[in-house]
Amino acid sequence: MSQQPVSNRAGVLYVVATPIGNLGDLSPRAVEVLRAVDWIAAEDTRHSGRLLRHFGIGRPLLSLHEHNESKALEKVVGHLEAGRSVALISDAGTPLVSDPGFPLVRECRRRGLRVSPVPGPSALVAALSACGLPADHFCFHGFPPRQPAARRERLGELRSQRVTLVFYESSHRIAASLADMAEVLGGDRPACVARELTKRHEEFLHGSLEELARLVADDPDRQRGEFVVVVGAAPKVAGSPAALERDELLRILLEELPLKQAVALAARLTGGKKNELYQRALAMKK
Ligand code: SAM
Repeated sequence: MSQQPVSNRAGVLYVVATPIGNLGDLSPRAVEVLRAVDWIAAEDTRHSGRLLRHFGIGRPLLSLHEHNESKALEKVVGHLEAGRSVALISDAGTPLVSDPGFPLVRECRRRGLRVSPVPGPSALVAALSACGLPADHFCFHGFPPRQPAARRERLGELRSQRVTLVFYESSHRIAASLADMAEVLGGDRPACVARELTKRHEEFLHGSLEELARLVADDPDRQRGEFVVVVGAAPKVAGSPAALERDELLRILLEELPLKQAVALAARLTGGKKNELYQRALAMKK
């Protein structure tokens, strides 16, 4: 183990989850910790100030967001090493989950400082827990790229993942992203759009990706708010559209390249397993 011993004098960095919409979701322990720490490092001090005032929490705030993270990190580490405790919060949900904080936590770990989670809301887990798609194996991909070409390329890399896929998306791109998901991942894939979780207009839309893309594109009201998109795993049956596409790709590559190179490239492009693709390629060669 490379971790250094934790000094008894050093303060603790608490990573505290805050509500994703419903203030009632701030846990009693989160309130207790936020009241007790010496400093609160917040992504947006004005935004978090409102939450903290609501709970009568008056600890001093320091700002830690993606644009000042390396400087703010030094400040926080300085406090911790001087024996002062700090709570890290983001605008909503769990810090580090598509939110700032990773460099800070990594640095604390590197220096052997204590980091302790105060778990609570996260849109990712909230959506998975209630959407009705398998949550035992899933892969979280955060926000898809904003640019259409990069987004489609990224989705292409994920097409054959045989686990539930979870994405965050904003109101600006939800319609375009769903359309790309339907086109690239497959229009018949089961999916769920979880909108405005824990808020007044909370809504779960179910259907195939194609149906959901149409539903959201046709209704501007359904493009408002915050979204988690959950997509069912790629089907594993042989002869499925994904498998057929993979075979087609492999066939084209085999026409141009030696077997080993074709297999390696197909594995990179489809995310498929090399040994499975190798067996398919051998069968095709025969
Ligand atoms: N750290 C947060 C968490 O643990 O969920 C996520 C922060 S990320 C910057 C914000 C994105 O999370 C939103 O654009 C949306 O995709 C998702 N999100 C946050 N709150 C949500 C809510 N109430 N309903 C649906 N999605 C939400």
